[in-house]
Amino acid sequence: MGWTSSGIEKATDKREVLSCWDDTYDSLPNRTSDSNSLRFLGSFSSEAEAKKAINNYDISGMAYAEVNTGKESAKLRDAKELLSKESSKLKSFKISSSVYNSHNGKTIGCTDCGSSFPRDYFYKNDSYNYSEFDEFVDGKYLNTCPICGHDLRSKTTFERIEGYRKNIQKYTDRVNSLMETEKAKPYYLYKIHAYLG
Ligand SMILES: [Zn+2]
Repeated sequence: MGWTSSGIEKATDKREVLSCWDDTYDSLPNRTSDSNSLRFLGSFSSEAEAKKAINNYDISGMAYAEVNTGKESAKLRDAKELLSKESSKLKSFKISSSVYNSHNGKTIGCTDCGSSFPRDYFYKNDSYNYSEFDEFVDGKYLNTCPICGHDLRSKTTFERIEGYRKNIQKYTDRVNSLMETEKAKPYYLYKIHAYLG
């Protein structure tokens, strides 16, 4: 039987490579984790170098490489910088505007149902690795009324969050469109090379 190889294929997205490997792996004969593996060979600034690396790799499985020939312009770097700053601002704002953090008094009232609760019913928010819409974090309420479920944050808070989101969308679009025109977007080459026994 010997070896079989696909040609070198191209993908615009790393996820395409990974899902192709998932589909292929099941159909390979003699598969064990050490005889059939997925190997990332690195990022290359020319397609020729990436192809050479892939062709030199002769272990059974799939090898892939990233090709990134584009150079970022100052404009693109600035747009990426703006995007990253705006995302950090939104993150900090979601922390500072959560119900516990934005109130100082001992109790917090709900304008919707009129109930009132001790401040420590709410989560003291010092990090952000959950959704602002989660009802509970660590057993405490995050932003909603424990009785009626009304979001206790102010209208101004929502407006500011919406403002950050709009900016993030705007900068994301700008980054994507500059990456397209500057060809600074990486793509992937991959090849399946399998031992059939
Ligand atoms: Zn309520």
